[in-house]
Amino acid sequence: MLKFCPLFSSSSGNSVYIGDNSGGILVDVGRSAKQTDLMLKNIGVDIDTIQGIFLTHEHTDHTSGLSVFAAKHKIPVYGSTGTLQALKAKGVLTEKHIDIAVNSPIEIAGLCVKPVKTSHDCADGRGYIVTGCDGVTKAAIATDTGYMPPDLLSAIKGCKLVYIESNHDINMLKTGPYNYMLQKRILSDIGHLSNDACADVLKTLVNNGSTHFILAHLSQENNTPHLAYTTSVKGLLDVGAMENRDYIIKVAEPENTDKPIII
Ligand SMILES: [Zn+2]
Ligand SMILES: [Zn+2]
Repeated sequence: MLKFCPLFSSSSGNSVYIGDNSGGILVDVGRSAKQTDLMLKNIGVDIDTIQGIFLTHEHTDHTSGLSVFAAKHKIPVYGSTGTLQALKAKGVLTEKHIDIAVNSPIEIAGLCVKPVKTSHDCADGRGYIVTGCDGVTKAAIATDTGYMPPDLLSAIKGCKLVYIESNHDINMLKTGPYNYMLQKRILSDIGHLSNDACADVLKTLVNNGSTHFILAHLSQENNTPHLAYTTSVKGLLDVGAMENRDYIIKVAEPENTDKPIII
């Protein structure tokens, strides 16, 4: 059993809770400690049961509340060596924090957390595969990646729940307010995953046992929840998969209003 809840999801802040009945972890703290505290309270999670904060990478939309939240609640911070070094260089992680470089699977809070490399313009980004205490139920977090590297795809294949980036609609991005350099960065292999690229990944996942999809990290300028959702549902229909029969899908809200999903 796993309890999964996106707390915040957008370019203005990302954070996810994963746990079971005894404990859990956060992936990223991209909003203030105060907002994160409140959101955890809203979804019925006791902060004292959170045993680690795992970082995808050092960008501000994933770390802006990290320093205060980790110090206030005395929670250790885990990330790749590159991510931790980048945060120390920026003064986000200091002596008051416990930071632990994690490059292979670790057991924590009754869960097994496996880091997997992403492709993003940061020091050394990671996605995470989290296995519940039953040793079987798996959830994956794969955001902030310009494309889906084969190792990341093979790691998330077979995960029951996949929280995946569906960042932008390519046409909206190309005709939207972003300047050429920024567009180029987002569209590159070290940028963000588009709705179309996300839908292609879901086609593979639905044929390999995944049943719960959460579309995440939507751009507020270059996407809409409806476009992200319809692109994926249409893509899945192309391979004969029907919503509510073969899978369930939702779009993560910038600020969560739902209960945790239990898988
Ligand atoms: Zn980023
Ligand atoms: Zn991000």
